[in-house]
Amino acid sequence: MSKIQMKTPLVEMDGDEMTRVIWQQVKDILITPYVDLKTEYYDLGLKNREATKDQITLDSAEATKKYGVAVKCATITPNAARMPEYNLSQMWKSPNGTIRAALDGTVFRAPILVKGVTPYIPTWTKPITIARHAYGDVYKNTEMIVEKGSKAELLVTKPDGTTETSLIHEFKGDGIIQGLHNLDESIASFARACFNFGLDTKQDVWFSTKDTISKKYDHRFKDIFAEIFENEYKEKFDKAGITYFYTLIDDAVARVIRSNGGYIWACKNYDGDVMSDMIATAYGSLAMMTSVLVSPDGVYEYEAAHGTVQRHYYKYLKGEETSTNSVATLFAWTGALRKRGELDELPELMSFADKLEKAIITTIENGTMTGDLYLISTLENKKKVNTTEFLEAVNETLKELI
Ligand code: NAP
Ligand code: MG
Repeated sequence: MSKIQMKTPLVEMDGDEMTRVIWQQVKDILITPYVDLKTEYYDLGLKNREATKDQITLDSAEATKKYGVAVKCATITPNAARMPEYNLSQMWKSPNGTIRAALDGTVFRAPILVKGVTPYIPTWTKPITIARHAYGDVYKNTEMIVEKGSKAELLVTKPDGTTETSLIHEFKGDGIIQGLHNLDESIASFARACFNFGLDTKQDVWFSTKDTISKKYDHRFKDIFAEIFENEYKEKFDKAGITYFYTLIDDAVARVIRSNGGYIWACKNYDGDVMSDMIATAYGSLAMMTSVLVSPDGVYEYEAAHGTVQRHYYKYLKGEETSTNSVATLFAWTGALRKRGELDELPELMSFADKLEKAIITTIENGTMTGDLYLISTLENKKKVNTTEFLEAVNETLKELI
């Protein structure tokens, strides 16, 4: 059998700990036997981030802009405990944050559904994708503790030097105060990323804020979305048979619970933070969540939603058996390969990605799974396998499909 050829390299961002171990195995067992894999390799492992003073992360983001598609392994975001462990000269920033800032992206997270793992909301038969705005609001806030008898005002100094003030509150007792902001440009790129993703995946787009209470701030989000939709996307959505739907956040929550899934729910930064954890938990497992960062100019970075699974890695280092779930990492690879195939018009590569995904799901639905799923699966014939055995089992299923 001849291997599937690629045209443009994928930007490959390697990472840390257990997911780094899985990364190599995924390539060896399931990718390179079938695909003549072309990648431009960036080692974002913490050791190399230290050695390059984190330049490697910036370089990988630039390469993503150049080539258009990246696949990323989970990476350590250093905390105090990592300083001596990796002999760090600095507590390097989160690579995801750095890459997100460079690409100006929106993060889309979607669960992978399998028979035997029932969502806590059993009517959710299709995935709900959360699109989280990743700039501003409470994540870039200014806060103060305010003393009794104080008067708080909002003061804006305009470019011509004139000022505009607005009373916030006259404090009769002690209290607190907070200032938030966002940018039209960032909201607009968030809106475009959501509409493009809707078109890409043929799913309706829902957006919700609290504009009845926040008549200027949240209303601005609603207006920008509406304007961009009318001017740039309405016709494309009509043609694709999908819709854009705005509603209040409280109404959205009620509708989401009653729905069957199968749409993209665009959320402001804080709402997206909270709702994506709720959705991930309700669908069963963090190891079954995919994550893709999409930039407004159509650059894609695929990854798993979970971290480096540190606890399993320490077991692995001691030579103990691990049963770590590789599904989200595998789907990062299939997502990136399929997108590369789409952009380079390589139907064989796209079809390989489809078959590999099918092999993963089929393997689990036939009862072979890692420990995390074994604990929650309702299948009667379920069997727990170790990290490598799972990948080998997927390969057996894949061979039958190919
Ligand atoms: P984690 O890697 O998400 O794992 C937390 C726990 O969730 C694990 O101990 C395991 O539970 C379970 N789990 C997560 N993924 C799993 C998988 N694929 N298969 C089986 N079980 C899985 O979080 P962490 O261990 O707290 O964080 C480790 C490092 O990851 C940190 O340094 C953090 O900075 C980094 N991180 C990176 C990213 C990213 O790059 N995108 C995201 C989050 C965190 P049990 O131990 O009970 O089996
Ligand atoms: Mg969170």
